[in-house]
Amino acid sequence: MTFAPHGNHLIAGRRIDAPQRFTSAPASGPAYDYAAGTPAVVAEACAAAEAAFAGFAASSRQQRAALLNTIAGEIDARGARITEIGSSETGLPEARLEGERGRTTGQLRLFAQHILDGAHLDRRHDAALPGRQPLPRPDLRMVQRPIGPVAVFGASNFPLAFSTAGGDTAAALAAGCPVVVKGHGAHPGTSEIVGDAIVAALDKLGMDAGIFSLVQGGSRAVGAALVTDPRIKAVGFTGSLGGGRALFDLCAARPEPIPFFGELGSVNPMFVLPAAAASRAAELGAGWAASLTMGAGQFCTNPGIAIVLDGPDADAFVQSAAAALADTGPQTMLTDGMAEAYRSGARRMAEGAGVNTLLPPPCDGRAATPQLFEVSAENWLSNEDLAEEVFGPLGLVVRAETPEQLATLGRSFKGQLTATLQMDDSDLALAQELLPVLERMAGRVLANGFPTGVEVCDAMVHGGPYPASTNFGATSVGTLSIRRFLRPVCYQNLPEALLPADLAAV
Ligand code: NAP
Repeated sequence: MTFAPHGNHLIAGRRIDAPQRFTSAPASGPAYDYAAGTPAVVAEACAAAEAAFAGFAASSRQQRAALLNTIAGEIDARGARITEIGSSETGLPEARLEGERGRTTGQLRLFAQHILDGAHLDRRHDAALPGRQPLPRPDLRMVQRPIGPVAVFGASNFPLAFSTAGGDTAAALAAGCPVVVKGHGAHPGTSEIVGDAIVAALDKLGMDAGIFSLVQGGSRAVGAALVTDPRIKAVGFTGSLGGGRALFDLCAARPEPIPFFGELGSVNPMFVLPAAAASRAAELGAGWAASLTMGAGQFCTNPGIAIVLDGPDADAFVQSAAAALADTGPQTMLTDGMAEAYRSGARRMAEGAGVNTLLPPPCDGRAATPQLFEVSAENWLSNEDLAEEVFGPLGLVVRAETPEQLATLGRSFKGQLTATLQMDDSDLALAQELLPVLERMAGRVLANGFPTGVEVCDAMVHGGPYPASTNFGATSVGTLSIRRFLRPVCYQNLPEALLPADLAAV
């Protein structure tokens, strides 16, 4: 089967061409031309989303669950084509794309199930107390309502699960918010097929086509126009610190500022406690190397920094990690720009004061070979740059002098998506001391595992203090993520007939 894209934007169900086009830059296979986004196309998509909002917000949870399930079915029906173009565009292996597709449709189906029971609505009712002295109390009912059209930026590193029909889109549609997606330029063909699947699902169910639009990229003006459009009421984003911060600032500077739910980077520190290091340093080193190189290190939960107590166990950890990383061959990165950014990040790391380089420099082109460095805690603490994310399969081992220094190191990290403890039973007291530091730093704290691989479920938190995310109270993975696109409204003394359907039964 050979994929032939139509190459258009998808605006409220219509395929829209544009005078300017851009050419894709696949890792392998043919390149294709796509319509380039413009502020005018963004405005058209936002107008359609706003026009669809009232009806979609009033839809029943059953209707929205049907939409989510139908989208999942339409994606499955296009599975082979998605895998073909996805692996050509991104260089990700077919098995990874198939797995990611399963996660994407699983997310959509999970949200369908989640909204049916209504728990996310957090409905409350304080019944009227007409006889209360000195003043009567009115009847008060509260429910979560959708906020309006939502902008979603497709992420480069998850062409399916964090892109066109990814977690942000699923959560927004489940909440009753129309979505305008800005496709990522690294995988326009994948975005197009998934966009077609959403359009087909809306059409099948006879729902307003304005509920979904896909504007392909092509210039920075597209993202800027999208987040500043007055009809957009929230933004979901995964990407770089620089790009995310620029868009976040645009959201804050609007006449009506809006929330920007950005996930901007994390080094996901892993603390190897002494008894764990003594009992299984080599095993932990090899496990860390496997986690670091998963997906060519292009996971936001990549554990880029390992902290171990200096000594023979640290030596064993480093040797084992170095051997495993040296055995890992070159892996294709998602874009040429990312491969170049990886190489310059590795150079910056190698030039840091007191940093030892343990593996040869990365190879050229779009491929990346793993990198490993080590540094003393003292040198690490005096060079903030060493704590910056280098996107790719790069690990830094920080050797701590004393167990007490682990907490000092922990306190020096910026906000993180995850923090990991490798511990045995006799490490418990030290772990108890560290836990308050890790809780304050990260959205998810793990013991005896590796953070890559984020479960999509009710209890998941994929977020954390800035810059892991721009809203520490939110998650972009799991059912709790729907709360980003809802806001509480209180209805005082409203007759039953006026109440939203979701409140009528309460
Ligand atoms: P990015 O450069 O931040 O771009 C993400 C999206 O935001 C793209 O659609 C981009 O549009 C748009 N954008 C960025 N800056 C903008 C601006 N100033 N104004 C308007 N729109 C803007 O991220 P990326 O392309 O995915 O990857 C670049 C780097 O981001 C990677 O090398 C890596 O360091 C980091 N990254 C981190 C994670 C993570 O989970 N931690 C995930 C992905 C990427 P254009 O494409 O048109 O520029």
